[in-house]
Amino acid sequence: MTDTTTEPTQATFAELGLDDRLLRALAEMGIESPTNVQTQTIPLALDGGDLQVSAETGSGKTAAFLLPLLQQFLNSQQRPAGTQMLVLTPTRELARQINKEGEKFARFTSIKVAALTGGQEMKYQAALLRRDPEIVVATPGRVVDHIKAKNIDLSALACLVFDEADRMFDMGFAEDLNAILEQLPSERQTMLFSATLNHLKVASFARRALNEPRQLSINRSGLPDSIKQQIVLADDEKHKDKLTAKLLNDERYEKAIVFTNTRAKASKLEAYLRYTGLRCGVIHSEFSQDERLRVLNLLRDGRIDILVATDVAARGIDVDGVDLVINYDMTRKGDEHVHRTGRTGRAGKQGTAISLVTATEWNLMHGIERYLKLKFEQRKVPGLEGVFKGPKKLKASGKAAGSKKKKDKNASPKGAAKKAKPKKPANKGVFQVSDDGLAPLKRR
Ligand code: AMP
Repeated sequence: MTDTTTEPTQATFAELGLDDRLLRALAEMGIESPTNVQTQTIPLALDGGDLQVSAETGSGKTAAFLLPLLQQFLNSQQRPAGTQMLVLTPTRELARQINKEGEKFARFTSIKVAALTGGQEMKYQAALLRRDPEIVVATPGRVVDHIKAKNIDLSALACLVFDEADRMFDMGFAEDLNAILEQLPSERQTMLFSATLNHLKVASFARRALNEPRQLSINRSGLPDSIKQQIVLADDEKHKDKLTAKLLNDERYEKAIVFTNTRAKASKLEAYLRYTGLRCGVIHSEFSQDERLRVLNLLRDGRIDILVATDVAARGIDVDGVDLVINYDMTRKGDEHVHRTGRTGRAGKQGTAISLVTATEWNLMHGIERYLKLKFEQRKVPGLEGVFKGPKKLKASGKAAGSKKKKDKNASPKGAAKKAKPKKPANKGVFQVSDDGLAPLKRR
C-alpha cells in the first residue's frame, strides 16, 4: 500500500482535527479521505513541532502541509502583522499550483493566500503583499528580491515550509535559502518536504534550519503501486523517435507526458511527433512563463493530449488525467525517475511509465531498479523491435543475459565466445548510477 491510497481504517479529515470550513472545502473538491502522508503529517504539524518528511508528488503532500497551516490560523484568535506562513518551492509552476490549492482549501475562510514567483511584475506582487496575505507561496529568488525591496516582513513568521527541498538544492537555491533564513525569527515551526531525506545538502541544511524535527519517511520506494513500470529497448535516437510515436499512437491514455534530458531534444521530438499527426506541445526552461502556462492549459483543457518536457520545466506539474509517462531518455538519478513517473498514478489512479533504454543506458536503468527496489517489466513494440536486446554477457557468471540461455542473436558474430582475446569492459561509456541513486552522472 502506498501513501497515495486510502485505507478504510484510516482516520477521517474530521478526526484529524480540521475545522468545518476546511471540511466543506475538501468535500467540494471531492477529496473524501486522507492519504497516508496526510494522516501521518497533519496531527504532528498541528502539534507545532518541526517536521522532516520524505514524500512524493502525487502522495497528497501539498494538502498535508496546507491544511494544518490553515487550521492553525483558524485556531488562533489574533494575528500580528506581516507574513505568517511562507511556503518555498523550487519552481514557479509548483508555487502557482500550491497557491491555487491553498485558495480552494481556504475558500470558506477569510484567509488570503498569495503566490510570489519570478516572471511577474514586482510592483503587482508588492501590491499583493500590502493586502497582508496570511500565507505566501514563493520561489526563493523572488522572496529575496522582495526582502531587498523591503516589500515583505518576515520577522513575525510563525511557520516555514520547504517543498521539494532536494530539488531546491539541485537547482542552486542554497544561497537564497540562507538569505531568507537570516530574516526569520528563531521561534517558529519549520516543515521540510523532500523526495528523499538522504540528500546530503538537504540533510546538512535541515540540521541548521530545523529544531529537533520528527522524521517521517512515508514511502520507501517513493513509487505508488498504481504505476506500471515498463522498459522498451532501443538502438538509438532515430529508433526512439519511432518507438515514442508508435507508443503514443497505440497506447490507451487520456494524457501523456514525454520526458527528455535536453531542451534541444524536447523541441526536436515535439516537432517530429506533431509531424506524425499527434496533438502535442512542448515546455522547457527556455520558454517564458506565459508560454509554459499556455501549453499546460492546452493539456489541461484537452486541446493537446501530449506534453514533451524536460525535468526542470515539468517539476510539480499537476495535470489531472495524465496516465502515461514516456521517458525518452532514462533519468540520471533514481529520485528524478520518481518525480517524472509520479506525474501519473496520482492519488491512487492507474498509470503507466515506459522508459526507452539504449545499450548506454542499461546500467543506469539497472541502478534505478536497485535504488527504487523495483523490477521494470520489459515489453516489445511489435514491428519496431531493434537490434539491442540487452547486455550480451554477464561478466561474473558468463551466462547469457536475461532469461535466454540459447545462443544470443545479438552476440557479435566473431569473438563473443573467443577466450584468447581480452574483452572490452562491458560498461565502457555507460552511464552509472550508485546504489543510493544520488551519484552524479559519471562515465567510466
Ligand atoms: P500532491 O501530492 O500534493 O501533488 O497531490 C496530488 C493530487 O492528489 C492533487 O491533484 C490533489 O488535489 C490530490 N489529492 C490530495 N489529497 C487527496 C486525497 N486525500 N484524496 C484524493 N485526492 C487527493
